[in-house]
Amino acid sequence: MSSSASSGSGVPPRLVLATQNRGKAREFEAFFLGRLRVESLADHPEVVMPEEAGATFEANARQKAEHIATVLGLPALGDDSGLAVDALAGAPGVHSARYAEGTDKDRYNKLLSVLQGIDASARTARFVCALAFAAPGAHTAVATGEVRGEIAASPRGEGGFGYDPVFLPAATPGRTMAELSPAEKQAISHRGEALLRLQPTLLAYFSLAAGGAPP
Ligand code: IMP
Repeated sequence: MSSSASSGSGVPPRLVLATQNRGKAREFEAFFLGRLRVESLADHPEVVMPEEAGATFEANARQKAEHIATVLGLPALGDDSGLAVDALAGAPGVHSARYAEGTDKDRYNKLLSVLQGIDASARTARFVCALAFAAPGAHTAVATGEVRGEIAASPRGEGGFGYDPVFLPAATPGRTMAELSPAEKQAISHRGEALLRLQPTLLAYFSLAAGGAPP
């Protein structure tokens, strides 16, 4: 990994995140204390992303980051995440966002009906996030983070998104992810763990000192 990105001009170096969501880009920018300018794909409407075709979270994250780095010639961060249920051999996994037609509620209800009759001890699962950093002329680096827990018998809670209402993190017994405050979720987040693991690579590439808290 080269460290050619430090401009030395006081202007923060640019990093493009593989998301349309500007809010997510701001969260990553806050993690780096504003020392990187984190852009989203909303800032680059000319970039057409390929279909997510990978069999793993890592492959999808890598594909996203490398595509953006190639098309724009800029350092890029790709992420992919989802829920892996042990009793379903890791499903819905990379298909989490498309597990059922309709809404997040339709998707977690499908999961609950598939797991009907399976008792708590066999309902173990984990949220996984893979983050990949790619830059022109550099080797791509990938890191993953996860939150272990189990699938609840029924949904509870109003917070979060996706499968949060049916996921009981092992670290917060008796409460679903959707019943945690944003700060509590952030403290155990699979995304935060992946970013902390990738942080040394990013800091070295951009010639920055350590510091920051996960999004
Ligand atoms: P992606 O946009 O391809 O990474 O898909 C992520 C999908 O995984 C989301 O649509 C959710 O269904 C699920 N997912 C990932 N992270 C979380 C989380 O923190 N809480 C709940 N669901 C999540």
